[in-house]
Formats: sequence, C-alpha cells, structure tokens
Amino acid sequence: MAHLGKHAIVIGASMGGLLAARALADHYDEVSLLERDTLPETHEPRKGVPQGRHAHGLLARGREVLDQFFPGLSEEMIGQGALYGDLVDEVRWFNHGVYLANAPSGLRGLLISRPMLEDGVRRRLLQLSNVRLLEHSDALEPVFDPAGIRMTGISARLRRGEGGGTATMDADLVLDASGRGSHSSAWLEALGYTKPREEGVQVNIAYMTRLYRRRPEHLPGKRALVMAGCEPGWRFGVILAQEDERWIVTLGGYLGDRPPMDEAGYIEFARSLPEPEIFEVIKDAEPLTPLAPYQFTANLRRHYEELNRFPDGFLVFGDALCSFNPVYGQGMTVACTEALALHECLAAGVQDLSRRFFQTAAKLVDIPWQIAVGGDLQHRAVEGKRTTQLRFVNWYLMKLFQAAQYDAVLATRFLEVANLMKPPSSLMTPQIALRVWKGNMGR
Ligand SMILES: Cc1cc2nc3c(=O)[nH]c(=O)nc-3n(C[C@H](O)[C@H](O)[C@H](O)COP(=O)(O)OP(=O)(O)OC[C@H]3O[C@@H](n4cnc5c(N)ncnc54)[C@H](O)[C@@H]3O)c2cc1C
Repeated sequence: MAHLGKHAIVIGASMGGLLAARALADHYDEVSLLERDTLPETHEPRKGVPQGRHAHGLLARGREVLDQFFPGLSEEMIGQGALYGDLVDEVRWFNHGVYLANAPSGLRGLLISRPMLEDGVRRRLLQLSNVRLLEHSDALEPVFDPAGIRMTGISARLRRGEGGGTATMDADLVLDASGRGSHSSAWLEALGYTKPREEGVQVNIAYMTRLYRRRPEHLPGKRALVMAGCEPGWRFGVILAQEDERWIVTLGGYLGDRPPMDEAGYIEFARSLPEPEIFEVIKDAEPLTPLAPYQFTANLRRHYEELNRFPDGFLVFGDALCSFNPVYGQGMTVACTEALALHECLAAGVQDLSRRFFQTAAKLVDIPWQIAVGGDLQHRAVEGKRTTQLRFVNWYLMKLFQAAQYDAVLATRFLEVANLMKPPSSLMTPQIALRVWKGNMGR
C-alpha cells in the first residue's frame, strides 16, 4: 500500500465516515474520526443519524463491499441476530400494480437495523490499531496554509461538555463525511473558491416508522415486503425483519402526503396501500416503539467533479456529495462503493487526488441518481426535466415489471440492477427485451 502521510481526519462517524476511514487506514499512519455525537453502547438510534429510526435496507452490492473491507462481517452480524434474505425469493416487491415473481436466486441481502449495522462496522474499524474515534467532538472550521491552496487541518471542539476546548488538529488529509448538512460548500466559498453546483429534485417525502414484535404467522415464508410508491396514490410501505424478532415498518407518502402520528390513523394509512399485507401484519401486532416521523425534502447532488480549483488535502464524501430519496435504499451502498473508489485513488498517490476521486465518485453516483430521480419523476407532480429517453426508460421498466410478475428471471435481472450489482444496460439486451415483450404479449 502507498504510504501517503502521517494523519488523516474524517469528519463524521456514520456509515460514510466509517467506510472512508477504512479506506484511509491503509495509507496513513493514523486516522482520526471526529464525531459530534456520543456513540451509544447499545443499538439505539442517535441524534446525528436520525434516519437510524427508519427502515434501512442494505443493497446486495453494499453487503458485498462491507464484507470485502471487513471480512466475515455479515456472518458476524448473523451470529448476533441479523438475518439473511434471498432478495428474489424471500422479499415481496410491489410496483406498477403487481408483485415481482418469487424464486430462489442466490442474491442475498442482510436484514439488520441501521444502528446495529453501524455499530458492527464501527467495532470492526476500531480494531485497526491506527484508527481512533473522537466522539462528542465537533469539527468547526477548516485550517488552510497561508496561500489558501492546501487544507492543513481542522479546528475542533473536542469532547464537548467535558472540559475540552477548541484545538487545531493538523492533518495531511481532511475528509468531510458530515452528511447532507455538510459545510464544505460554504467553507470553499469563504476562501474564494467556487461552490459546487447543486442539483435537486423535490419530493417532500414523509416517513412514519414503528417497530413491532415479529410472529411466525406474519408474512409467511417472507422476510420483507417493499411496496413502492406508484400511480395512482403514490403511498408506499416497507416492512423488514430485523434482529430480536422485530419488524420495522415504515409508511410514507409523496409531496406532503403524511401518515398520521396516531395509532388508528397509522393503521388506516396502511389499509390505504394498494395491497393489504402490511395492514394485515400491523393491525394486531404488538408495537414496540412510539411512531417516529421523518421529513425528507429533496434528492440533492453537489457536483464537486465540475470544479476547476479545489484545495489540496481535502475531500468530500457520502451524503455530503449526494443524498438520494431514501425509498430506493441506496445511500449506504453508494458510500461503500465510494470507499472502494477512494481506496483505489489513494493507491495511485495524492497527486491530483481530489479531481480523480470526485470524477470517479460522480460516475458511481450517476446510476443510483438516475434510478432515484428517474423513479421520482414518474410522479406527475414532481418537478424536473423529463427527457424522451427518461420517458422511454420508465415505460420500459414498467413493462419489464409487468412481465416479471410471472418471470423470475426478469425479476432477478431487475433486482440485480436495483441492488447496484449490475448496470441498467443489462436490462436492455435483446434477450431481456424479448422476454419483456413476450411477457406482455402473452397475457
Ligand atoms: C429516512 C432515511 C432513510 C434511509 N434509508 C436508507 C436505506 O434504506 N438504505 C440505505 O442504504 N441508505 C438509506 N439512507 C441513507 C443513509 O442513511 C446514508 O446514506 C448513510 O448514513 C451515509 O451517510 P453519511 O455517513 O455520508 O452521512 P450521515 O449518515 O448523515 O452522517 C453524518 C455524521 O456526521 C456527524 N457530524 C455532522 N457534522 C459534524 C461535525 N461538524 N463534527 C463532527 N461530526 C459531525 C453526524 O453526527 C453523523 O454521525 C436513508 C436516509 C434517510 C434520511
């Protein structure tokens, strides 16, 4: 491994920061993770990651990369109560008015709560002797060399509330994984750099989530059900098995359609979904938590790859680069693939690192961005540019879905793409197009 310096600092120890730190640990003598929160000992959601209360699906590609960085992690999580699920056979996928066919596929997902997954990754990361975690510590401002061309460290409030004060921490590299609310754009602007262009597609999604006790008679033979928002109502629902014999149930709507926060209203909202399975489970299952809301406004992408000037010794990562409508379950997996890309970029040294990393990351983000935004733009009231190509792709995917209700091969091919294992072009081959055509003609 190329040795690139003494010290790298990562701002934020959520999934993005943990994965970036894993990639950096092979190249720097020491990696410090600065995290504003005090991290829980148990698998509890925490303030800095409020999405941890809500359904989190780990896509198959994300699981694959996690096991690459932390060999045996999935098995370790299974040993502690997480579950495997065959993504075609044991999950019911509803969209465009139909369910995909079920059949054994070998495409395996990990069913686990977000806090438990983050805790498992963090524990494995901290087994590396050159990684340290500074929790309850806030990154405040970047520190630059006098010419303003290199970031030389960060000022931080260490161990907030425990007598610690503000200190400057020197670093060869600072990586911002502080999430969607990242201050990196503002930091750049204050130093006279151009801010990255921001691209957004407004969806105003409302989530409402609750945990329930899982019983064997619920969803027989299945470990999850995902009901995507689609015409005419655009309400969606997800029910995922988790550790400790629990279901996590998230219901939601688009553009201000919000599930009620009272028990009866929530159950009625579940009844209003196009198919009854989630309602059938929760109408008399034992709730384990209060209802928890979350509001997600817009898909948001920051185009750092377009900038001509960017300081040395600085990178931006994860949700700080791009945050997707969460209903597609992509954010953690994209952070995994960005960490792989970072690892490869670092192997080639630090020369021109930010340009190389941002360009590679932009290519990685392109496909999940198209999946998320392309899906959202099927909603007539979501504002955005609908090109002829996008209209065709959405029409074709709808036809594919229709055919895949009877054809497990098509269902598997579709889920490989949705799980970021294969590119969307794999659904456009003549063989697949023929299957789609036959599947629609025959019925
Ligand atoms: C409701 C919802 C549901 C989601 N569902 C899924 C899903 O099903 N599947 C999936 O893959 N992804 C999902 N995501 C996305 C996923 O949670 C993120 O992509 C993932 O956490 C990676 O984000 P991140 O680490 O870059 O940022 P974040 O998770 O936002 O973490 C940022 C971290 O930085 C810390 N921090 C912030 N500022 C500072 C500072 N100044 N100093 C020190 N620390 C700081 C915060 O405390 C936090 O720990 C969902 C997101 C939401 C909102």
